Amino acid sequence: MAGRGVTYSVKECFYTLQGEGAQTGRAAVFLRFVGCNLWSGLERDRADAVCKFCDTDFVGVDGEGGGKFADADALAAHVAARWGGASGKPYVVCTGGEPLLQLDAALIAALHACGFEVAVETNGTIEAPASLDWVCVSPKSTAQLRQLSGDELKLVFPQADAMPGKFAGLAFRHFFLQPMDGPQREANTAACIAYCLANPQWRLSLQTHKVTGMP
Ligand code: SF4
Repeated sequence: MAGRGVTYSVKECFYTLQGEGAQTGRAAVFLRFVGCNLWSGLERDRADAVCKFCDTDFVGVDGEGGGKFADADALAAHVAARWGGASGKPYVVCTGGEPLLQLDAALIAALHACGFEVAVETNGTIEAPASLDWVCVSPKSTAQLRQLSGDELKLVFPQADAMPGKFAGLAFRHFFLQPMDGPQREANTAACIAYCLANPQWRLSLQTHKVTGMP
């Protein structure tokens, strides 16, 4: 899309440690895109949304390091300027909202040209470009899954319409259950632990950035 006059809209872009899943603890630039196809991001629409438990602000370009970018090279340079690591391969996690509404082959190529390993965290409703280095799919409720393979399937648990058995046969290297946050977090954590003990294909993923106070 870049090169055809389409801008990328970014909510925020910052350097931190990945807090969840198989890459927990790894230094990364988080690139959060504006917009999602399963919820508008507005509270008044939450009850009617496909995905109702979202705790992320992905509306507007007003976050730290947010903005509109005219093309892939401009956004890749912006991401590269935020990488703070002195050594090791630069790593960027493209997230949202739903990043695959905007993240395209041109931007992945531009990030690769800046030396980055490129990861995506997607709800799986849009097929991921093959040039990505790490694909994490997090299925949501009744939304139809189109990305059926990848590195990591990270399921927020429990979701009545998206229980683990539905995804256990898909072609992912890692399977994680992550307790749904909110008032039931403790009970959800206990339920995740019980499920992983009974079904060792699944591992527990905790949101360590919330424990440590990282962004
Ligand atoms: S799919 Fe992800 S970003 Fe979209 S509403 Fe659900 S949790 Fe939020």
